[in-house]
Amino acid sequence: MKIAFIGLGNMGAPMARNLLKAGYQLHLFDLNTAVLAELAALGGRISESPKHAAQGSDMVITMLPAAAHVRSVYLGEDGVLAGIAAGVPAVDCSTIDPQTIRDVAAAAAKQGVVLGDAPVSGGTGGAQAGTLTFMVGASAEHFEVLKPVLARMGKNIVHCGDIGTGQIAKICNNMLLGISMIGVAEAMALGNSLGIDTGILANIINSSTGRCWSSEIYNPWPGVVETAPASRGYTGGFGADLMLKDLGLATEAARAAHQPVILGALAQQLYQAMSQRGEGGKDFSAIIEGYCKAE
Ligand code: NAD
Repeated sequence: MKIAFIGLGNMGAPMARNLLKAGYQLHLFDLNTAVLAELAALGGRISESPKHAAQGSDMVITMLPAAAHVRSVYLGEDGVLAGIAAGVPAVDCSTIDPQTIRDVAAAAAKQGVVLGDAPVSGGTGGAQAGTLTFMVGASAEHFEVLKPVLARMGKNIVHCGDIGTGQIAKICNNMLLGISMIGVAEAMALGNSLGIDTGILANIINSSTGRCWSSEIYNPWPGVVETAPASRGYTGGFGADLMLKDLGLATEAARAAHQPVILGALAQQLYQAMSQRGEGGKDFSAIIEGYCKAE
């Protein structure tokens, strides 16, 4: 089976490597020629454009930074839709707004191409290990076509509903994560300034009603969870700028739907301030540094 894989960055490159390992033939395209050469050495074929990658492929997968890239890669003059044959399934795994993927899918449908959305969680570690969660927005039939291929790159392949619902699941979850991290940071910083040992406080929270993923697995106080980015200088996790991007998608989708997201908007502003201080590359749990210098 030949798969066009377009967008080979921090996430796309390890995902493509897992497909090559599984024996798929890949038609690769990215603007970065170094990554193309690296994956060609593993057996992939370099393409000259998204159109060229899609020509002769049995499936198309894209993993791009943002909505503008998805639009141009599918709809551009040398885009996927200029090369793909009718009936070939396609899936976009980028994190973008639900409306863009619906628009691009509608354009694809006009030429008999079914496009789904399948944003991921699990980060670069999950992409390397092949343990990503895919949140899939597609018809039931399209989902069954995509599932065996996605299963070579992830361990949870979840059907969320029709086109766009994968993006909805992803932005709602990440909005909640951004908010919950701020809540945990506030509580940990308050406890510290009032004089309780932060390890004891974390244990109490994690066996009480304040418990959540941000307190238990990813606590922002250094040393509380040895494997959390807080314990290695807020490096190697989920960057605050990526969280800011996802909160922007959530608040923009909320605006379009006339739905209030009061804490989501506040969280967006706090990560915006962090980014503006030049700290957007740090893990998002470093939001705690706005409350105190955690030591
Ligand atoms: P990245 O910036 O590392 O990679 C994007 C790749 O797309 C780059 O190699 C770039 O050259 C390529 N690209 C850009 N425009 C292109 C075009 N017109 N044609 C072909 N290639 C093009 O980004 P990433 O970290 O791999 O993230 C990809 C998507 O996954 C984003 O939407 C991100 O929000 C989402 N995501 C990232 C993470 C993470 O931890 N990095 C986790 C979950 C989801």
